[in-house]
Amino acid sequence: MTTITFLGGTDTVTGSRFLVNSNGNSTLIDCGMFQGPRAIRQLNWKDPFARIGLPESVLLTHAHIDHTGYLPRLVGTHRYRGPVLATKATVDLLSVMLPDSGRIQEEDAAFANKKGYSRHQPALPLYTEYDAIEAQKLMQGVDYHEWIDVPVGRARFSFAGHILGSSHITLETGGHRVTFSGDVGRWDIPVLRDPEPPQDADLLLIESTYGGRSHQDPSDDANEMMARVFDKISRTDGVLVIPAFSIGRTQEILYRIRELEESGRIPSLPIYLDSPMAIDATEMYARHHQEHDIEMKALEQSGSNPLRPRKLQFTHTVEESKRLNSLRGPMVIIAASGMATAGRVPHHLKRRLPYPENVVAFVGYQAEGTRGRKLLDGAERIRIHGIDVNVRAEIIRLEAYSAHADENELVRWVSEAKPKQIILIHGEDDARAALAGRLRTEFGIEAHLPKRGDVLEL
Ligand SMILES: [Zn+2]
Repeated sequence: MTTITFLGGTDTVTGSRFLVNSNGNSTLIDCGMFQGPRAIRQLNWKDPFARIGLPESVLLTHAHIDHTGYLPRLVGTHRYRGPVLATKATVDLLSVMLPDSGRIQEEDAAFANKKGYSRHQPALPLYTEYDAIEAQKLMQGVDYHEWIDVPVGRARFSFAGHILGSSHITLETGGHRVTFSGDVGRWDIPVLRDPEPPQDADLLLIESTYGGRSHQDPSDDANEMMARVFDKISRTDGVLVIPAFSIGRTQEILYRIRELEESGRIPSLPIYLDSPMAIDATEMYARHHQEHDIEMKALEQSGSNPLRPRKLQFTHTVEESKRLNSLRGPMVIIAASGMATAGRVPHHLKRRLPYPENVVAFVGYQAEGTRGRKLLDGAERIRIHGIDVNVRAEIIRLEAYSAHADENELVRWVSEAKPKQIILIHGEDDARAALAGRLRTEFGIEAHLPKRGDVLEL
């Protein structure tokens, strides 16, 4: 008998964890952390394996924390000691991301204890940097397109085009062929190869983050907007602040700025990449040639570095970052986090928001309640580090630069597989319902929408 137990990532876009059991063996696909509102984050404190036992092996589709961030807990608290398989680039990215995540957990707990606002006394980290380093020791990098033996059968990773190292995982288990989409990326965008079609899967588990939505076109508008902003800050000596996710979005922005510079549409301005993790990730993006698309490869062969605008500078230390405060524009600062909730970007916003010559450009999804969302909604004042900051800078959104397939792209991906059965995961209720409706009309397939805790027998 073969079953899939849905431990997370069903009706939410975080906490992806799917346990496959087959004839007494088990493999966990993704080991994500729950993120977002408190009620969802609380789920991280429940032991998902209390009644069902630990898996014998873990496979990871890609490095994002909502797919991997529970792993150090699995190792540190649950004492998991089996193998963790992921693509080589994913292993590379996680060597930076998981210890960073552990450090944040420890800092948050220490801060809560200092302020005395935690409901737990004392507040504890979900895991520590040490746990993350221990987790890393279990990781094995695998190649794309090779069949690898796992306890429930065999597995194969293929390109997902979402972030560096991202994959769809196909599992042959108990006479079934099952493909887990991970997050599906986009076609024809810079740097990474396109998503590969799911091959001959009987059963497809597919993410539905952007069910019911389409990205308005695209890059032309965003490039146009970028050109206008560069023109503005050049004339006014302003500063463009881009809050960006370190992995993926940052590299695409660097690529596009370099491209606009080379085509003469924008002047070469100083660009400060002010995020140690984004600096590391950019280096990894450049190094993993196998994942690059044709344009990226051609540029590299011609000897240029496609991720390096002419006046790009890295700021590693906190002191270097602080020094940016005293600099006049025109210049660009790219810093994490993407929704301006943490990292170095709140400092830059505090410094630059009060002046109309400056511009803040958001890329990617801005969740409810974040500073990013508030600024895009037109807030006139915003609280940063306990101070009310007046907002007189121009606030814009660069929507086209997204890492997730929209509904049309998800349907395109499914159409290449023609599966017998589809399960929609990793989407809020209305997004899942919208995509389910679309699949019904396009393919006559009734998709299954599991809830957390459900067990499906294949
Ligand atoms: Zn992702």
